[in-house]
Order: sequence, then structure tokens, then C-alpha cells
Amino acid sequence: MFTIDEDIEFLAHGAVSGQRKYPRWPEGGRLLRWREIVAGVLLLILFGLPWLEIEGHPLFLFNVLERQFIFFGVPFWPQDFHLVALGLLAFIVFIIVFTVAFGRIWCGWACPQTIFMEMVFRRIEQWIEGDFKAQQRLTAAPWTAEKIRKRVLKHGLFFLIAFAISNTFLAYIIGKDELIQIQTDNPANHLGGLTALLIFTLIFYFVFARLREMVCVVICPYGRLQGVLLDKKSIVVAYDYVRGEPRGKRRKQSTEVKGDCVDCSLCVQVCPTGIDIRKGTQLECINCTACIDACDGVMDKISKPHGLIRYASQEGIEQGKKFQFTGRLKAYTLVLILLLGGLGYLLLTRKAIETTVLRASGLTFQQQANGQISNLYTVEVLNKTFKPVALEFKVKNPGFSLQYVGQPLQTAQPGTFTKSSFFLLTPAKGIQENKTPLTIEVRANGQLMQEVKTNFMGPVL
Ligand code: SF4
Ligand code: SF4
Repeated sequence: MFTIDEDIEFLAHGAVSGQRKYPRWPEGGRLLRWREIVAGVLLLILFGLPWLEIEGHPLFLFNVLERQFIFFGVPFWPQDFHLVALGLLAFIVFIIVFTVAFGRIWCGWACPQTIFMEMVFRRIEQWIEGDFKAQQRLTAAPWTAEKIRKRVLKHGLFFLIAFAISNTFLAYIIGKDELIQIQTDNPANHLGGLTALLIFTLIFYFVFARLREMVCVVICPYGRLQGVLLDKKSIVVAYDYVRGEPRGKRRKQSTEVKGDCVDCSLCVQVCPTGIDIRKGTQLECINCTACIDACDGVMDKISKPHGLIRYASQEGIEQGKKFQFTGRLKAYTLVLILLLGGLGYLLLTRKAIETTVLRASGLTFQQQANGQISNLYTVEVLNKTFKPVALEFKVKNPGFSLQYVGQPLQTAQPGTFTKSSFFLLTPAKGIQENKTPLTIEVRANGQLMQEVKTNFMGPVL
């Protein structure tokens, strides 16, 4: 852990030097260990998911170009857009509820930007350039062979990782099979795909090598929302000023009453966004917990309890109140439950085969030579599965028969609309009403999938 009085010259400049920040690493921190474990698991999931398949199809796919999505192996087509939109809305409300209650916990623990920046790119930087002091010295140093070697190695690795992220990102959009084809086939056949790979790589490289924490502090809209979402009851990373103030260095013979903060500035040094959490909750705080770890280390050294900086609400610190399920939180939770309920209902009632039968417009009925009355219908079948489906149509009402115009509609291809037309016929003398309600059974691979309602027009004799 840290020694309190070391490197005072670095403290004088704070954790920031020029554009680039040089945060100290909260070595050995209790929460850092947990964050490393969580980051490891999430990175494994992120890089592993595009390679998982069910029956030859991806487990997850977000093909926004062709508007095809796969969640847990279930395909969603453009016709399911309302489900995808509702799912996204529910996700946003979930993030809001979570933020109102627990602040930016997402940013510190699960956001890919933080995980890559803090757990991957910064670690590489430390490995090549040394700790925060060595990094500052290297930046200030002239361009010697050693500096060039370190910078080339660092940026080379940054670029390689950006390339790996770019490939993974593309695999989520176009699927791993197409990605492998782009990587292994003749480049001339995949100029578009290769250009996309290069552009994404350059973007990710720029984000992690240049923009870095500016993404969280300036660009990320979620970060900007904090001012609206957080209140005094939200749990955030907070400095306990009641316990910590008046802050100051401890002197042996002094009788001055001091708080627990020894004003060592370690919490500022470790902060990746370069803020002083003792000034209160700030938009720049990504809840990374580095300052908690740093301060707990200091408390160990001066034999004080942990938690001078901790997860707490402003009210909790001011008045010692415990977490409360507030009216605002209840309202957001209710909206979330309603959205999830609606989404769950739509998902459970979603049909794998969707059929529309419409009576041909502009026509009423036709009198056939054999004394039968016919109506013409158009039928449209959407097969939402991955496989072709054998179709069968049957009118449930007695006395009606079905006759296709042209080829019978026997198969619905996956992910496409299949269209056809047919006549429904019935003897004229059997018609009881001008507009007879009909039910048509749609069977897919022999199984009843849907009962479609329509009308039959005919003269009552
Ligand atoms: S809050 Fe903790 S880490 Fe920060 S200056 Fe005070 S004692 Fe040091
Ligand atoms: S204030 Fe603490 S929790 Fe917030 S970003 Fe800085 S180090 Fe992380």
C-alpha cells in the first residue's frame, strides 16, 4: 500500500499534468481485487459471446444493418421491432432506477469503457512505462531510443487490443462466420468489411489512447444525466466530512482537535478523472472506488476504521440515515415493472409463424358455375424461425373449402414473408348471412400455430 509522506513533489501538481492524467494505482486495494474479478468475468463474456451458437446460429446478434437481432438464440426480425424498442426502453428505465438508488455503480464496475481503460489499457501502460511517477518522467523526458521503444511498444499493443475489440464488435453485428470470412477470404471481396474493421480499430484506439477519461467526463450522455438523477438519498462514493473534518496533518505534540482525514491527497492521486472527492459528489466521479481503497489504506496506517470514503448517501453522512426506498424510487420501479410485464406478455404470446389473411379489396363475391359462392383472399406468412416450415390452411367453419390461385402455399422460408392467394368456396344455399365470420387454422409442421379470423361475403338466398 501507500506511504503517506512520499513523493510530495508529485502532490504539488495534483494528479493531473497537462492533458494526460497520471493516476496512481490503488495497489492492493480490497475493492480493486473485486473489480479485477468482475472485470475478468465481464471481459470473458464480452469476447466469448459472439462465438457461442445454438443449432448453428449465434446466441446473440445485433445486426442493425439488416435489422435482425438474436437474443439467447431466439431470432427477432424487423416485424418484432416493437419488442426490441420496448426491451431497450425497459433497459434504460432499469439503468435510471439503478442510478437513482446506487449512483454510477455501473460506470465503476461494469461499463466497458472503464473496464478497458482501467483494467486493460492502464495496466499495459504501467507494465511498459512504470508507475505514475515514471510515466510523468517519461513524458517530460527527451525522445531517446528508450522512450521511443516504450512508446512504440505501448501504442502497438494499444492498437492490437483496439483491433481485437473491433473484431468482437463486428462479430456482434454481422456474426462470427461472416467475420471469419472477411478475415480469411481474398481481401478484394471484402473491402467494405475490412474498411469497417479498420475504422472501428482507429476509433477504439483513439478512445483508449487519446480520449481516455474524457469519454466519461465530457462525452458520455449517461454521465451528464447524473445531475438530474442523483439526489441526497442516492448511494454514491462519498467522503464522510463529518468524520474527516477538520482535516490536516497530525503533529506529535499538537493538542489541536482534528478529523480523521490526514490530508495526504492519496484519494486525489489515485482518481482516474483527477477530482478531489472531498469537495463533494461531482459529475466527473465514475464511482471507480480507487479513492476508497486508497483512503482505507491510510486509515489502516493511522489505526482508524475504514470508510472515511465509502459508498454512502449524502443524507447518510449528514444524518446517519440508512438507505431508503423513496417515493421517487418507487415510481420509477413501478414504471419498470409495468414495462417488464408488458414485454414479458408480448414475448410469451409472440408467434413463431405470423399469418395475415385479407379479403381481396374491391371485390365482394363471385358466383361459380357449379352454384358455389367464392371470395378471393390474399395470405401473407412470416416465418420468424431459422428453418423452413411446412404450411397447411384449413377453414374451421363447416361447408367451406379452399382453392389456391396458382401454386399452393406449402412452405414458408425463414425470416421472410411468403405471399399467396386463395379462394374460399361454399354452396350458395348454405349462406345464412351477408357477412359470415370465418376462422382459418394455420398449421406449421403439422402443429396448430394460429387461428386467423376473417369474413366471407355472400348473398342470402
Ligand atoms: S480522505 Fe483519506 S486519502 Fe483522502 S486525503 Fe483524507 S486521509 Fe488521505
Ligand atoms: S472520486 Fe473516487 S470513485 Fe470517483 S472517480 Fe475519483 S477515485 Fe473514482
